[in-house]
Amino acid sequence: GTALDAAFFVRWMTVSSAAVDREADHLTELDSAIGDADHGSNMQRGFAAVAKVLETEPPATPGAVLIAAGRQLISTVGGASGPLYGTLLRRSGKALGEASEVTADQLREGLRAGVDAVAQLGGSAPGDKTMLDALYPAVEALAGASGSFDAAADAAQKGALATVPLQARKGRASYLGERSVGHQDPGATSSALLFAALAEAAK
Ligand code: ADP
Ligand code: MG
Ligand code: MG
Repeated sequence: GTALDAAFFVRWMTVSSAAVDREADHLTELDSAIGDADHGSNMQRGFAAVAKVLETEPPATPGAVLIAAGRQLISTVGGASGPLYGTLLRRSGKALGEASEVTADQLREGLRAGVDAVAQLGGSAPGDKTMLDALYPAVEALAGASGSFDAAADAAQKGALATVPLQARKGRASYLGERSVGHQDPGATSSALLFAALAEAAK
């Protein structure tokens, strides 16, 4: 498979930052329906800080890029999504070790460890109407014969859309009980953006 170097991971984060910026109003609109209307601004602030630190002090390895990005999200985003996405990236980065290049298989296993860490931190599972409903299908789609970044992006997008009929069991949306049904989860939607950015960065 293709070797993914530190520059590829910087590109992924930079493309993610642009995507989050472009979709910020949409993310906030979704969060205004079942949350507190700040998911777009949370993600925008966090990923702007990520893009800035990676541009000014580019780390030398894939693992270090993701760890630096995760650290920025944790320190700049006050909402639930900051520690959750920060954990995703930091744990995934840790799993990649100190190699200067990684394979797509290694990235998949790193992301799997990262997503598991999100579930552990959030006390959440697939079906709870959270970012996990996009993240788990995306990681699964990276595995298997037809696994690719495009397939992962597609699976994440489908997972985000599939949160609409669910009742939220975690996060602010869960306070609404049955009234959370019929709305797309903001965090699952931003997760789909991050996987679309991964596919774009690979082109
Ligand atoms: P806050 O809810 O603190 O305002 P955000 O609006 O930035 O934070 O992020 C909300 C998103 O975080 C939700 O849409 C959901 O996807 C995700 N989320 C919240 N709580 C959890 C949890 N316990 N486990 C996984 N994801 C969660
Ligand atoms: Mg919110
Ligand atoms: Mg908030």
